[in-house]
Amino acid sequence: MGLSQSPFVHPCVQCGACCAIYRVEFYWREGEPQDSDHPVPRSHFDEKSPLLRAMKGTSGKHHRRCVALEGRIGEKVGCSIYSNRPTPCRAFAASFENGKRNPRCDEARSAHGLKPLQRSDWSDQTPVSVDSVRTIEL
Ligand code: SF4
Ligand code: SF4
Repeated sequence: MGLSQSPFVHPCVQCGACCAIYRVEFYWREGEPQDSDHPVPRSHFDEKSPLLRAMKGTSGKHHRRCVALEGRIGEKVGCSIYSNRPTPCRAFAASFENGKRNPRCDEARSAHGLKPLQRSDWSDQTPVSVDSVRTIEL
């Protein structure tokens, strides 16, 4: 990267759309401190069934927004429990982050008026991990 170029900013830090459209459910043990090294905080989830829990704010039919999402969607966001986020969040890749399109990322962005990410959105990045970016943003 040349000195004149701006540092790469991970696209998720300027998005947050998937945290405000999908139901985020996870296996109940992920919320148990004795069963997980990074338990989802009890204050952040609801019981959905004997085996499933869901992030607060993501279960309604309308205006879903995870209680842990901070900031303005499409501008600057962060996850207030990033180190303790549940498995579905850890597994959800942005389109082309790993070289492949993720239609669910595209759909979430579209629902919030954002264009789908393209391969070129990742082409000039410096090797900064999303972990470090998101940790800084919180
Ligand atoms: S826990 Fe964090 S990453 Fe997962 S949906 Fe909520 S704000 Fe998004
Ligand atoms: S995974 Fe996609 S929808 Fe979710 S925050 Fe990142 S760019 Fe936005």
